Amino acid sequence: MDFGLNRDEIALQMRARAFAERIVRPRAAAIDRDGQYPLDVVAALTEAGFVGMTIPKSLGGQDRPFLDAVLVIEEMAKACTVTARIVVETNMGAISTVMAYGSEEQKRLAAKLVLAGDKPAICITEPDAGSDTTAMTTRADRRGDSYVINGKKHWITGAGVSLLHLIFARVFDESGNDLGIGGFLAVRDQHKGLRVTRREPTMGLCGMPEGEIVFENLELPTSMAVLPPSGLRRGFADLMNAYNSQRVGAGTVAMGIAAGALEHALDWAKTRRQFGRPIGEFQGLQWMLADMQTQLTAARLMLYAAARSRGPNDSPFPDPMQAAQAKIFASEAAIKIVNDALQFYGARGYSRDFPLERMARDVRMFTIGGGTAQVLRTLVASKMLGWKLPQTRDGYAPRPPRDATE
Ligand code: FAD
Repeated sequence: MDFGLNRDEIALQMRARAFAERIVRPRAAAIDRDGQYPLDVVAALTEAGFVGMTIPKSLGGQDRPFLDAVLVIEEMAKACTVTARIVVETNMGAISTVMAYGSEEQKRLAAKLVLAGDKPAICITEPDAGSDTTAMTTRADRRGDSYVINGKKHWITGAGVSLLHLIFARVFDESGNDLGIGGFLAVRDQHKGLRVTRREPTMGLCGMPEGEIVFENLELPTSMAVLPPSGLRRGFADLMNAYNSQRVGAGTVAMGIAAGALEHALDWAKTRRQFGRPIGEFQGLQWMLADMQTQLTAARLMLYAAARSRGPNDSPFPDPMQAAQAKIFASEAAIKIVNDALQFYGARGYSRDFPLERMARDVRMFTIGGGTAQVLRTLVASKMLGWKLPQTRDGYAPRPPRDATE
């Protein structure tokens, strides 16, 4: 299948593949088992120039397009999901928000940290504001030349290891007027009042901490507010626009895990013998292989197209509709492909001595984080209909209290 990659892109893909085989694959099982953030791998990624690739050259980066990051992410994900997620978050997501909407000072700060290997954290989700992000209650109160942030976030990727944090909070002026949701940059260890209070006990993706973060009078100079072009009141949508790159990145991690799992299944189909012949000679498994490959190819095509796309109004980010469709399709296809690959291994697929059970635990996340598959479908449908689809209108409405005489 021709994916339309040029010579430079293929060269980058090959370099990433060789790196993943040499440095990443031998570490993957131990990262999962120990649950420790792999600083040695981060150092190697930094040295190889796989972090901060999308940062402009003027700030020390390589000015590479999102597709280049996608090619590297895919290769890492075949071997180790945690490593792939580090490449996502040092090239897409929070760093892209800052590069698109940040001040020069903010860009320099973020570039310096990321190019030194820091994986920024993006803090949106709260215990009572998950898919419904605008229900967030974390607040930023203006006090003279500062904002004071109070609130709680949870499921924050990189909690306790990330230095740079992009925090979303509801902004209030000095008179207590609600100005809408804005973004703020904080550096752990530099700004007091940011505390990691819990590590989430995850099913997979072990080695990448997910945690709860509490902000207690976190005081940030006003220069740390990330202001989108449309200003604070309407700016949340702009800031969230950067999530379209993160979504393509997350979909690519899922697709890469599936590609890795399929490589294992194919290899096992040729080498494992039962009934006197390789199990790949059984048509039941051949059709599974064909379906896995077909789904994988479709996912890859959608993700590459989404990475190449741009949203409306000169957006620097992938088209929201394409990014959402690619993530829905890739994450759901990947769960099925990995599950089927595990089946090829029989009992060994269920064993911790083999990589398939780790891949199955890791891949399960990708229909949840970064916008669930259901919420992304709502986004796609709203674009198709050309309507804003308010989720609060057709859902639960409290029943009036029962009449005592009823
Ligand atoms: P809920 O919103 O409570 O949803 C529960 C279920 O209801 C889901 O199936 C959902 O699809 C469905 N649902 C909700 N609303 C609708 C609707 N309108 N229509 C149809 N179905 C609906 N957050 C961050 O801010 N930063 C991070 O770095 C981060 N990293 C994460 C890493 C991992 C591994 C995970 C698992 C999550 C991470 N998250 C992060 C949180 C993630 O973004 C949220 O989990 C996600 O947005 C869903 O929110 P929720 O878990 O509260 O589920």
